[in-house]
Amino acid sequence: VTPDASLVHALRRAVAEAPDRVFLTYFDGRLSYREADRLSDSVAGHLAGRGLERGDRVAILLQNSPLFVLALLGAWKAGAIVVPVNPMYKAGEVGHVLRDAEVAALICSDRAWDGYLRQAAEGSPVRIALTACERDFQTRDDTRVLGFERLPEAPDADDLARVALAGHPAPADRAAGGDDLALISYTSGTSGTPKGATNTHRNIMYNAERQRTGLGLPDAPVYYALAPLFHITGMVCQLAACLASTGTLVLTYRFEAGVVLDAFAEHRPHFTVGPSTAFMALAAHPAATRDHFSSFTVLSSGGAPLPPALVEKFRAGFGPYIRNGYGLTECTAPCASVPPGLEAPVDPASGTLAVGVPGPETVVRIVDEEGAEVPFGTHGEIVVRGPQVVPGYWRRPDATAETFPDGELRTGDIGFMDTRGWLYVVDRKKDMINASGFKVWPREVEDVLYTHPAVREAAVVGVPDGYRGETVKAYISLRPGADPDPDELAVYCKERLAAYKYPRQVEILADLPKTASGKILRRELRSRTRDGA
Ligand code: ATP
Repeated sequence: VTPDASLVHALRRAVAEAPDRVFLTYFDGRLSYREADRLSDSVAGHLAGRGLERGDRVAILLQNSPLFVLALLGAWKAGAIVVPVNPMYKAGEVGHVLRDAEVAALICSDRAWDGYLRQAAEGSPVRIALTACERDFQTRDDTRVLGFERLPEAPDADDLARVALAGHPAPADRAAGGDDLALISYTSGTSGTPKGATNTHRNIMYNAERQRTGLGLPDAPVYYALAPLFHITGMVCQLAACLASTGTLVLTYRFEAGVVLDAFAEHRPHFTVGPSTAFMALAAHPAATRDHFSSFTVLSSGGAPLPPALVEKFRAGFGPYIRNGYGLTECTAPCASVPPGLEAPVDPASGTLAVGVPGPETVVRIVDEEGAEVPFGTHGEIVVRGPQVVPGYWRRPDATAETFPDGELRTGDIGFMDTRGWLYVVDRKKDMINASGFKVWPREVEDVLYTHPAVREAAVVGVPDGYRGETVKAYISLRPGADPDPDELAVYCKERLAAYKYPRQVEILADLPKTASGKILRRELRSRTRDGA
C-alpha cells in the first residue's frame, strides 16, 4: 500500500508532520494529531483483544464528536470494515443493518444501548459492544477533549472513552488500504430500504484528495462539520478532507443553528458542507450576521437540491456564495462540483442551477432508457464512471448488476449537460409526477416556491387524483413571522409555471420531515397524503 492508501496512513503522515497541531475541537476541548493517534491505537488494541479480526464489520452509531473519530480510526487500525449508522434509526432499521452487514462490534451511546440497541443486537451477530457516555456532552477533566461525561459502565458493554485512554497498543499490520473495503454505507433511505454501498479506501482517498486540492483552501484549513460524520458527505468532505490536508476539524453535536453560529464565531472555519436545508436554517436564525460567515473560503451545499433563490438570498444577506456539489453514497460523496472562482450557471429555460462539472478522471454521461447517450440539453439518466464510484452493494449481486452495469453507476437521477460541460440535476427519476400525462419535476416547482419571501422550505409531491391520475401538491414551512394564504402561494406559482405544473394544493406545515442528514423526505409527505393525514 502507498503512503496515503487510507485515512490511517494519512493520520500517520499528519502525526509525523505536525504532531501537536489541533486535529479535533469539541466545544472547549482540543485533541492533537498525536493524541488522536494514541487514543485510536488503544481502541484498535481493545477490539483486537476482544477477538475482532481483519475484515470484520464494526457499526458506529454516534453523533458528531471526537469519540466518533476515535472509534472510526480505531476500527480501521484493527483492520475492520466500518458501518456508519444513523444514530436516529429505530430498532428495526438498526436490526436490519446489523444482520445484513453481519456486524461483529457495535459502538454507540450508552443511552441508545440501554434504550434499544442491546435488544436490537440480541439474536444478531454482534459480540462486542462499546458505549460512549452521552449524558450532557460536556468536557471531562481527565481527557479534556472527549466531550463525554463518564457514567458507570454498562455491565455488558465497555466504555469507549475508558478504552481509548487505556493505552492498548494497536495490533501490528492490520490497517487496510487501497481497494480493501473501508465502509459499508447504507444509503439514506430517502427512497426505500437502505442498501449498503461498499466504499473502498481508494474511493475515499480519491475524493479526500480532490477536496484537499480542488477548493482553494489555505494551508492547515479549519473545517467545520455541518454534515453528520455518519453520512458519506460529512465523512468524506469534512473528516477525510481534513485528515488529507492535516487541518483542524471543528465538531459540535448534532445540528442546532445557534450552536453552529457560535462555533463559526469562535473557530473561524474556512470550509463547511451541508444540505441546503442547513443553510436555510442558518439564514433564518435571528442571531445570524455577515460576520459569522466572513472566515469562509468555501461554503458547499451537497447531497440535496440547492434552490437558486437561496444562493441569492444568502449572498445578499450574508456575503458568501454557496457552491453546489452533486454526489451520492454510491460515488463516495461528490462526483461533480463548482470549480473555485467560478459560479454555477442557471439554465434559462428551466431555472435550474447547475450542480457543477465532473471532477478529473470522472466521466458523467446522460443516457436514455436504452443506455444511449442523448444530445446536450436533453434530459436523461445521469451515469457516472470514476475512481470514486463504489464496486457495488454489500452482498447484493442483483442490485449491483442493475445499478453498476459494467462498473458505471446509474444514479437514478434525471439531468442534462450543457455545451460547456455544466451538469444539471433535474430530479430523481422516481419522484417524477405524472399529471394527465404531463411530466412534472418537483424540483422546478420547489425552486419557484423558494423565490417567495414567506417560504422557508418547500417540497412538492404527486398525490393521487381521480381526474389527472396524479396532481401536484406543495408542502411548505414558513420563514419566521410570515403568514401567507396557501391559495396565494398556488397563484404565485401559477403565474410563473405552465398550467399543468403549478400546485393545485398547498399545505403549510410547521416543519418538513427530513432525514438525519437534513434532506427533505418527499416519500414521507407522499405517504402522509395517502394515509389521509
Ligand atoms: P436512497 O438512495 O436510499 O434513496 P438518497 O438517494 O438520499 O437515499 P444519498 O446517496 O445520500 O442517498 O443521496 C444522493 C441523492 O441526492 C442523489 O441521487 C440526488 O438525487 C440527490 N442530490 C445530491 N446532490 C444533489 C444536488 N446538488 N442537487 C440535486 N440533487 C442532489
